[in-house]
Amino acid sequence: MATGTNQHSARGIPSVSAILHDSAVRAVAGGIAEAYLVAVIRTVIDAERDAVRTGGVAPDRARIVGNVCRAVSSLAQPRLAPVINATGVILHTNLGRAPVSRAAAGAMQAVAASYVPLEMERESAARGGRMAELEALFRALTGCEAALVVNNNAAATMLVLAAALTPDRTEVVVSRAEAVEIGGSFRIPDILRQSGATLVDVGTTNRTYLSDYERAITPQTAAILKVHTSNFRVQGFVHATEAGELVPLADARGIPVIDDLGSGALVDTTGFGLAAEPMLSGSIAAGAHLVCASGDKLLGGPQAGILLGRRAWVAKCAAHPFARAVRADKTTLAGLSETLRHYLRGEHLTAIPVWRMIATDAESLRARCEGLRARLRDAGVPVDVRPSVSTIGGGSVPGAELPSHALTLDAEAARTCGMSLDVVARSLRLGGPPVIPRVEHDTLWLDLRTVFPEDDDALFQALSGAMAD
Ligand SMILES: *Cc1c(COP(=O)(O)O)cnc(C)c1O
Repeated sequence: MATGTNQHSARGIPSVSAILHDSAVRAVAGGIAEAYLVAVIRTVIDAERDAVRTGGVAPDRARIVGNVCRAVSSLAQPRLAPVINATGVILHTNLGRAPVSRAAAGAMQAVAASYVPLEMERESAARGGRMAELEALFRALTGCEAALVVNNNAAATMLVLAAALTPDRTEVVVSRAEAVEIGGSFRIPDILRQSGATLVDVGTTNRTYLSDYERAITPQTAAILKVHTSNFRVQGFVHATEAGELVPLADARGIPVIDDLGSGALVDTTGFGLAAEPMLSGSIAAGAHLVCASGDKLLGGPQAGILLGRRAWVAKCAAHPFARAVRADKTTLAGLSETLRHYLRGEHLTAIPVWRMIATDAESLRARCEGLRARLRDAGVPVDVRPSVSTIGGGSVPGAELPSHALTLDAEAARTCGMSLDVVARSLRLGGPPVIPRVEHDTLWLDLRTVFPEDDDALFQALSGAMAD
């Protein structure tokens, strides 16, 4: 027996078949086929053996059974089930950004489970472009000549750069103020390097003029890139050169102005007390050759990268080999086109959740909060109603604050029920349906702006259930 310095040997570890026939494991195994169950058990037993050999712990059958049950349950249940977003952050990246409209979700579901004429002209049965419908919609909504939809905006940006570079034109001119990071792994200098481009940064972090761009253009310049600083705002002594001012410069050289708008609104945000978020139609009207945006930010559609602009440049992107690697699938295309039809019919403020949430007035949120407070207090849950501040989030309209109302639970009030806020928040997150609250300043906040009104009952059940645990 190899004893070495280890206190315990792996001898006491139960066999795979002993765990397979354990009653607790059988109870959660449901319809999982035995071969896959055995694979799960092996993984857990291997980890146990490592722990016994190197961690100095004694073999423990109960721990193995517990770990197998947890692993099996998490295999059997979808992790991506709906949650109620009570954070007040409308485009919450960790919660999947924009929920799409019912019509868009219906369209996505319908095409997912059937054949669709994705690349077929039904009249002639000839092969036809998958972008025709979306291009017509975007043309009507933004005035663009052509459109291409890819997997996300990061992919759109990489594709336009790849398409703009040629062997002897590899420099991309970017303002120093716009060589930014948009979320963890999307940094403009890295994206340019990945695309094989050389970044030529012009101007300063706060001011960049047309003359800065003029001086930087050489025969090696492949494109001028504008990037919307979607997740921060610089105030004070600042100047940016707009895409439109750069178009004549680019046209004279036969190179494109690429305008990465980030969110790319189809609706003027200033009508809702928000700062102006650049609009797709504005960039197109200014003459940008290629405009990029996300489908699941302010547009309120499924995850997608939207690429609009001049026909020749969009065609160049579509023909690039990289386009195939980042192309959108039929469900994305169906969901996005259904989303765009809401704008076309002028029903976006009621049909598209993101816009419905933005357009909801604080007074109606207060009324919903009051109704829920009365019911919760009757159920013995000591909640209050307080003014709250919702945000757009998701790299759109940075710093924007929408006055809202929230149901709140103070740490002190929770203690009178024998609960801590952490415990309440955790059981809300793990409940059915899960509720994601905000915990701030010793208070648990449930901001109703991001809660669908039809979920108010479920919210009531979740909170009264969490307090009764
Ligand atoms: C959000 C954002 C991106 C990335 O978009 P994804 O759709 O998340 O890939 C790129 N550029 C800008 C300016 C953005 O705001």
